[in-house]
Parts: sequence; C-alpha cells; structure tokens
Amino acid sequence: IGQRIPVPVTTIQGYNPGATGTGNNNSLTAPYTSFQYQDVGIKVGIVDTGIILCICAGVIDAWRGGDLRRLGLLLVVVTNVGCVLVATLLGLPGLMWMYPVIVASFLLVSRKRAIVAVGLAIGFLVIHGHAFDSDVHRVIFLVTAIVVSLFSWIFAHRAERQRIQLESLAARDPLTGTGNRRAMEQELSRAIAAHRRKLGTFALALLDLDHFKRINDNFGHEAGDETLKAFADLVRASIRTIDRFYRIGGEEFVLLLPGIAAPDLLAVCEKLRLTVADGLRCHEEVVTVSIGASVLQHGDDAASWLARADEALYRAKHGGRNRVEVVASTDARAIGNGLQPGEASDDFDGT
Ligand code: GH3
Ligand code: MG
Ligand code: MG
Repeated sequence: IGQRIPVPVTTIQGYNPGATGTGNNNSLTAPYTSFQYQDVGIKVGIVDTGIILCICAGVIDAWRGGDLRRLGLLLVVVTNVGCVLVATLLGLPGLMWMYPVIVASFLLVSRKRAIVAVGLAIGFLVIHGHAFDSDVHRVIFLVTAIVVSLFSWIFAHRAERQRIQLESLAARDPLTGTGNRRAMEQELSRAIAAHRRKLGTFALALLDLDHFKRINDNFGHEAGDETLKAFADLVRASIRTIDRFYRIGGEEFVLLLPGIAAPDLLAVCEKLRLTVADGLRCHEEVVTVSIGASVLQHGDDAASWLARADEALYRAKHGGRNRVEVVASTDARAIGNGLQPGEASDDFDGT
C-alpha cells in the first residue's frame, strides 16, 4: 500500500525554503516527521503525521477485520484532504501530488466515489486559490487535473469491465453457457452456510445423459456437442430463475434447487426427466437423462451432499436409465420412481 498510495508525505522532500546545511544533515538521521517540523514548518509536519497515522490505523483495521473497501475509502479521503491541506500550505510542490492522488482514488474506490472525492479536492483548490501564484497557474492546474481525472476514469472503467468479463468467463462452461464446477462449489458453500443459519432448505440433482458415448460414436463429436447445448437450453428453460445449473463434467450436470425439500424433490426431478425425454433429440434419436437427487442435511458438507446424489444417480443408471432416484436423508432408503423409459406418472407421493 505504501508503494501504491501517493501519500503527500514525500511531497515536500526537497522543498526546503529555509533550509540550512545543518537542516539537510539532520534530515538524513532524524525521523521523517521531525525533518518536516524543522524544515518546512510545523503545520505541514502535523498534516503529514496525521496522514501517516490515519493510513496506519486504516491498514491495521483492515488487517484485523479484512474490510478492504473501508480501507480504500479511508485512503481516498485522507490522501485527498491531506493533498488539499499540503497544497494550500506549500503551493506548487504540494499541488503536484494531486495528480497521483487522482489516479490512486480511481484505483481504490468506485468511479462515482472517486469523482466526488477528486472533484471536491480540485474544486476546493481552484476556488480557494491559495495554492497558485497566478490565475494562469490556476487554469493550467484545473485543465491538467481534469485531463488526468478523465484518463483515470477511462482506465478504471476498462479495468472494471475486464474484471467482470474475467469473473464471468472463470465461472462459465464455454460450450453450454452454464456455470462450471468452480461456480458450483462456491454456490454449494453458500447454500450450506445459509442452511446452517436456518435460512432455507436446499436440494441438488445430478443429471447424466444416458448412453452419451453412443451419440458421439453414431453421429460424431460435433453432434454430441450440439446435443449437450440443446440439453442445457432445455433444462434452463424448464427451471425456476432461482435454480442454478452447472456442467461439472463431459455430460454430467448439477442442478441446485433452493427451497425444495424432500416431499417435492422427486416430482421436480421427474418433471425434468420427462421434459428431456420428450424434447431432446439427436438426429431424430431420443436422448434421455438419469437423475440422482438429494436434500441438504444438517452436518452435510458439499462432498457428502454430492456423494448422496451420486449414489442415487448410480442407482438410477443401474435401474435402467431414464430414471430419477432420490435420497431424501442420510439414513433414509433411496426412493426411485421405478418407471421405464417413456412411462410418465403423476402418482408419486414424493416421500
Ligand atoms: P451412461 O448412460 O452410463 O452415462 O453412459 P455414457 O455413454 O453417457 O457415459 P460414459 O461416461 O461412458 O461416456 C460419456 C461420454 O461423453 C464419453 C465422452 O466421449 C463424451 N463426452 C464427454 N465430454 C464431451 C464433450 O464435451 N462433447 C462431446 N461431444 N462428448 C463428450
Ligand atoms: Mg452418461
Ligand atoms: Mg457420465
């Protein structure tokens, strides 16, 4: 932080109006603030000391609490106010530090906040006018400060856009546009944390396309890819907006279902199975899916939760595929619909 944040501490290094040779020698040995007090006046020394103390307090606070946003805000306020004070006291040498402070402000906080902070600082300096030798200097400062602010804004805007794009790319499966395994792990952790705080029930379903290898073998890998995309589109169109859908392997997907408890889980998954069996085709051939589902239980972590769904999926595959199996709880027996492909049913009791 010391390197990135342009603290006006060193602004006055070298600016030494009343310095003597002795003063310079002292500056080599004495603590920095003492140098300020001796050589450029007590007011600037106080400002510099205040800035250092504020930054140290902010860093310690962030170190303890990890609130980097608050630290960023504090640094922006302190450096802008400090720069205004130092520039008012010292004139041009202090004023020069406004430029790095502008750039740092746009890097440390949101663009809106940075505009407010640097706008107030520049506005105060220009209107107050004490920092300038002449009106020409004042105008030159105003224009250059606006140009630096504009470039900083553009840079911050582009950096923010790239960050959002990278975050989105890092969380998406490029073929199907669903979330990837990394995104799923984050969302499962959130669901588990919410469940521990008794903020709701969650279920997840593992979906695995049946005999997918045959599709590749019969129609080629490209047709397989198209089928995966069509499957993802079909599922996305069938689920609620609060549900989350992820591709975690070749033809394996996870569906996270917030607010779904054991009684409804089987019916929800069965509806999805039927939607796929009715709607998914590859070169006129019916493509089906097997589903294993489980409800989040007290004491579960992501691995145990997924393992139960995997166990249910295993049973669905061995039960003949195009089936749903649900493990409602850790000790309950698995419940399967026992349907053969194409046999729709409305008479699940879901227990
Ligand atoms: P099961 O019903 O037991 O699930 O049989 P399966 O053939 O679906 O399962 P298996 O795990 O044996 O084969 C999965 C196949 O999925 C093998 C692999 O070639 C194919 N696959 C994996 N990723 C992709 C992909 O990104 N695109 C395509 N086209 N095929 C993929
Ligand atoms: Mg499969
Ligand atoms: Mg598989």
